[in-house]
Amino acid sequence: MNKPIKKLLIANRGEIACRVIRTARELGVKTVAVFSDVDRNAMHVQMADEAIHIGPAAASESYLVKDKIIEAAQRTNADAIHPGYGFLSENPEFADLCAQNDVIFIGPSAKSMNAMALKGAAKKLMEDADVPVVPGYHGDDQSDDILASEAERVGYPLLIKAVAGGGGKGMRKVYGPDELKGAIEAAKREGQNSFGNPKLLIEKLIEKPRHIELQVFGDHHGNVVHLFERDCSLQRRHQKVVEEAPAPGLSDAMRKAMGDAAVKAAEAIDYVGAGTVEFIVDVANGVDDAPFYFMEMNTRLQVEHPVTELISGQDLVEWQIRVSEGHELPYSQDEIDGFKEGHAVEVRLYAEDPYNDFLPATGTLSLFDPFAVQNDDQRIDTGVNAGDEVSIHYDPMIAKMIAYGNDREAAIDNLIALLETTPVTGLRTNRDFLISALDNNTFRSGDVHTGFIDQEADGLLVEAQPSNRDYAIGVAAILTNRDTSSIASSDPWDQTDNFRLNDTFVETFTFIDTEGENISVSATISGGTYSVSIGEQSYVFDDNSLLDNDFVFTLDGHKCGTKVELLPHTVALIGRHTLVLERHRTLDIDDDDADGPGAITAPMPGKILDVKTWNGASVERGDPLIVMEAMKMEQTLTAPKAGIVSELSVKADDQVSDGTILLKIIDDETS
Ligand code: ADP
Ligand code: ADP
Ligand code: MG
Repeated sequence: MNKPIKKLLIANRGEIACRVIRTARELGVKTVAVFSDVDRNAMHVQMADEAIHIGPAAASESYLVKDKIIEAAQRTNADAIHPGYGFLSENPEFADLCAQNDVIFIGPSAKSMNAMALKGAAKKLMEDADVPVVPGYHGDDQSDDILASEAERVGYPLLIKAVAGGGGKGMRKVYGPDELKGAIEAAKREGQNSFGNPKLLIEKLIEKPRHIELQVFGDHHGNVVHLFERDCSLQRRHQKVVEEAPAPGLSDAMRKAMGDAAVKAAEAIDYVGAGTVEFIVDVANGVDDAPFYFMEMNTRLQVEHPVTELISGQDLVEWQIRVSEGHELPYSQDEIDGFKEGHAVEVRLYAEDPYNDFLPATGTLSLFDPFAVQNDDQRIDTGVNAGDEVSIHYDPMIAKMIAYGNDREAAIDNLIALLETTPVTGLRTNRDFLISALDNNTFRSGDVHTGFIDQEADGLLVEAQPSNRDYAIGVAAILTNRDTSSIASSDPWDQTDNFRLNDTFVETFTFIDTEGENISVSATISGGTYSVSIGEQSYVFDDNSLLDNDFVFTLDGHKCGTKVELLPHTVALIGRHTLVLERHRTLDIDDDDADGPGAITAPMPGKILDVKTWNGASVERGDPLIVMEAMKMEQTLTAPKAGIVSELSVKADDQVSDGTILLKIIDDETS
């Protein structure tokens, strides 16, 4: 009954499409990519043997259109479709449509997917299969009286969830009876608006939880195994940021109990293919023998599957393809148990600003090398190259950076090393935040839980600022670049204040710090030696060399190095931190403050949801003015100072581009 897959269409984009193509190639399977208008030159398109255009940028008009994907498969004679994650991966109708068109859907049956689609029904199913679930209420009766009495029975604090929810949406914490009514209303509304389903469930709120999930696999012959656990407790907005395997500090007994429960869960729904059973573990009293509960099952390949691959030596995409062809699982649970070795950690490199509430960012990658790995135990899974754009249309994940080590400490160190040697510039990213999270003492000790980022905010959510020494290094890099490039500099900023003393030049550079203050740096240049002074401090640079983006120098007798990026208006120093030194633009004063004082501009492209003010309104600093939505996030723009609103140029439902001036606040002349 085996049906070999000779040609595979990947109904996805970005890193996961590239990841699937890599394995298909190794197996000798031909690949077909699909792409939207903006992905015409994307990495996944370049990697595939064939590529089919499927429509405009909006996923709802391209990657999510079932008929277009099926048609592309038929046109190219693909035997199978791999949905990746997201998009159509957990869509039962799409799985059915594939079957109707005689194309293999790489994933479970529509029936298995449906069984896990709603949280309430899935919990009921798991209870019947003797898998522990978070104590709570997930009945059909949704009347106010029942919800109130069930809340009383479950006890506070509790968590209300929309049964159809996902991505952390539709959840409300409730700490006492007086908050219940409002929370129920809000969660119902969110469930209805976002998922078309107002039904709720009530759960005990686990106050110090860890997210531990099991990788499971089933085949068409009734076998189900697990490939160990992953700990994904480091989250922001209920979304994973750091993932690792195995889970730190888990006892063998608990590991076995959780593995057995996950296999039982998959067996209960006749599961075929790769899946993940997510558990929440209550670690208020430590992790030893902590109670764990089924939370939900993701019926697809998971974003963080590489950490499992690194500790098991298995290729999960190969397993998916073989299982879909009808093969039996290649190993028994006993054999798989023997494969486990070492430790692996993954971080999700996102285009976002950790120092501004993790607001998603967009932009064009300037420095980024997808092949920057330095050893066999490092891995980068990505779908972008330097020069590619991270747009508002899709997920802001730039890459997954993954490292392996013989133990947890070694894996963490290796991942920090990978991040430190991989510059990412051109847009705001969480790279530096990830390095501080990995190097955090609490994280290193293994004491992780979902509240970690908030708990450690003081150390993690503070952006590093350049020191005087950094400004001096920036100037030395500019000088080295000028001295070593054969073409004479035509950079007008370099000629600010330049005079000659015998064979010695003195030159002054001006930067602007984050407070808007000028920083004046003067350099005395004598041959290849630069003596750089800022205020009272001075630094002597010798033996300077700049090749590609590597700046190597001797500073006060010590050999040092850093990656740099020299652009007309900025100098970026990239090591543990990404320090962007901004140069004072003496020659384009017009450009300086072009938006005028008090201008509020759109921080990213997006849609205006609400305008809370009007021209002529008198506002105080901090007053909410405009609510906009961008990349599925709501953001409220507030008044940066007190004054009078003028030149308000947008209304609700307007689409605005990055940098659009939305309004200005002028000084109130009457006060
Ligand atoms: P995991 O597979 O580890 O559970 P997530 O739950 O973070 O990963 O995301 C699962 C899928 O949902 C991924 O395909 C991701 O791209 C997609 N996704 C996550 N968050 C969002 C979002 N805010 N908007 C759209 N898609 C999202
Ligand atoms: P989603 O479908 O949005 O992923 P989940 O039910 O998987 O929803 O929950 C997402 C996250 O919310 C979990 O990883 C965990 O951090 C938190 N969470 C879920 N249930 C509870 C609970 N009962 N108590 C505390 N935190 C919870
Ligand atoms: Mg989840």
